[in-house]
Amino acid sequence: MTDATYGAKLQRDGKSYAIQTRIPAGVVTPHELETIARVAKKYTISLVKITSGQRFLLVGVQEKDIAGVRKELGPLGTASITPSVRYVQSCPGISYCKNGTQDSITLAKTISDEYAGQDFPAKIKIGVSGCPRCCRESRVRDVGIMGTTKGWTVTFGGHSGFKSRQGEQVATGLTSEEAMKCVRSLLTHYKAHAEPKERSSRFIERVGTEWIGEMKKE
Ligand code: SF4
Repeated sequence: MTDATYGAKLQRDGKSYAIQTRIPAGVVTPHELETIARVAKKYTISLVKITSGQRFLLVGVQEKDIAGVRKELGPLGTASITPSVRYVQSCPGISYCKNGTQDSITLAKTISDEYAGQDFPAKIKIGVSGCPRCCRESRVRDVGIMGTTKGWTVTFGGHSGFKSRQGEQVATGLTSEEAMKCVRSLLTHYKAHAEPKERSSRFIERVGTEWIGEMKKE
């Protein structure tokens, strides 16, 4: 990756690029949608794809346009491409969904803001669901958070890829503040002890879950 292609990913054709947007909790305003549409039209973006991480992927960007696209996207164009918290997904949660038991959008935005710009050994995907129906697939995210009538349940080490794995349950019945504290403890430990490029699921398989058991006693 050169300075000219920073923030973009080379596509299958070997010459065009894709640019990811930063959309905390998967929530966009009408103004942000207009920005994406304006940029897509101006730079003749061939495909605007909604990804599994609740973000917009602008595909088919020419190399000469990468800097312009990112700049004109403004805050939307600041998605991290380093090993970091790539996204924090959220379902509508208790504010909007009739099944919701907890405020998933607010918690997801809080986590997203706290970890913006921080690097980790490997990418981290976080899913926040407002009830045990788990529409944000929290159990197969590096950090999974699910609401219940008694508070938040937090899991760690989930993975949905090649070698899928359900995350280990770390704590349950947490307030939002306690859930944030739990996420901080998990990610701090992972950051300090994981090897480069080692996703949380592989980290757990290598080191075991004793340290999570220790956290449960705290
Ligand atoms: S996880 Fe629960 S609260 Fe969230 S969208 Fe699904 S049913 Fe609704």
